[in-house]
Order: sequence, then C-alpha cells, then structure tokens
Amino acid sequence: MAGKDDEDTCYVCKSSRYLNPEMRFLINTECYHKMCSNCVDRIFSYGPGPCPYPGCDKILRKNKFKEQLFDDIGVEKEVDCRARVMKVYNKTEQDFDSLEEYNAYLEEIEDLVFSLVNGVNVSEVEAKLEAQRAVKTEPRQPKKDIGGVPATPFTPFNGDRGANTLIALSDSLHDPLNEKLIDQKEFSASGYVPQVYYRRALFEAFMGICCFIDAEKTRPIETT
Ligand SMILES: [Zn+2]
Ligand SMILES: [Zn+2]
Repeated sequence: MAGKDDEDTCYVCKSSRYLNPEMRFLINTECYHKMCSNCVDRIFSYGPGPCPYPGCDKILRKNKFKEQLFDDIGVEKEVDCRARVMKVYNKTEQDFDSLEEYNAYLEEIEDLVFSLVNGVNVSEVEAKLEAQRAVKTEPRQPKKDIGGVPATPFTPFNGDRGANTLIALSDSLHDPLNEKLIDQKEFSASGYVPQVYYRRALFEAFMGICCFIDAEKTRPIETT
C-alpha cells in the first residue's frame, strides 16, 4: 500500500496522519507539490521561499496554499487554470459582432488553459492575461446585436416595441360611454382622447396571446 502511505505522509517532514489524525495537507497553485500545514507554516510564515521538493525551483508564498479539492491533481490544476483565465476572459456572446468571432474567442480560452495546465509558453500566456486585464478596466462598449434581434427587453412580441402598430383603429368604432366622457370638462381638460383608450385596451388585451407574430404583422386587426 505504498500509494496510501504517500497520501498520508508529508514528503517534507515525514510526519504521518497515522500519528497525527489532525494533520492537514495543502497544495499551492505554482507547482502543486503537497505538504502538511505545519510545514507550510514553518517554511513560509516569514515570507516567500523556494519549494522544498528537490528539483523544484518555484518560489512559494504561504497565502497561495490551499486545500486540495479534487482527488486528481491534474483536475485540480485545470480547474484553477480555467478560473484564472475566465476571470479576465469574461466576455459574452453579445460582446461580439458575429458567432465566428465569439467561437474564436472561446477557442483562444481553451488554448490558454491548455498552455497553463501543461506549462507551454507560460510567459506568453501571462502576457495575454495581463493585456486582457488592462482591457477590462476600459469602459465597456455598448452591446451589439447578433442576428438582427433587437436589444430591447423581452416582450411577447419578441422585443418588438412597435407592437402598437399592429392595431388599426377604425373610424367607425363607437363606444357610448367614452363619447359621453369626452363632453365632460374634467376629462377633456386632462387631454383625454377615446382613441388612446381604445388603442391601449386592445394592446393590453392582445399582447399576452400566443399568436404568430409574422402573420399578425401583415394583417392589421380590424376594430369594427
Ligand atoms: Zn510536513
Ligand atoms: Zn514544488
């Protein structure tokens, strides 16, 4: 059970969890070499220092150590790298003029994550992340439409704010109650117009109905 011993023994101080059940193991995001929390405290409490693993030249800081979340250290590393990249590469589809540009952006993210995980061209990747960080502080450009869909809030007419134009009021429409109101000073003084009332009543009555928008647009509603 050599693997089990490795898991429960600190490589640096050789302490075993068998003797000290409270023992916690920590990893760092530089080289992912595992050591116990006592070693981290002892070696890095007074400032950054080199990793105690032979042949590892990484300079480590105490505040960069953390508990391992995944059993597989490869998965742990990929999740960390992805989180680092996504923190600055955080645009959404709406920030792009076309789907092709957005897909190219997503592909670039995958390439950067791959490079970081595998230690390929790391300085180049760091430079790109730094450049993105600088871009992020500039004021955001107004969002652009994709595929001709208007950038308006949702309405039952698929963002069509001109939905009122779907209704054509007929001159022959008569409503005795409204016609009586327009003769009263308290209504006419406020600028009350029956047509506005009709239009609004029709719009509110029909806006929630599941209708075929294209068909409705070509056939104005008769109000006789
Ligand atoms: Zn230790
Ligand atoms: Zn190391």
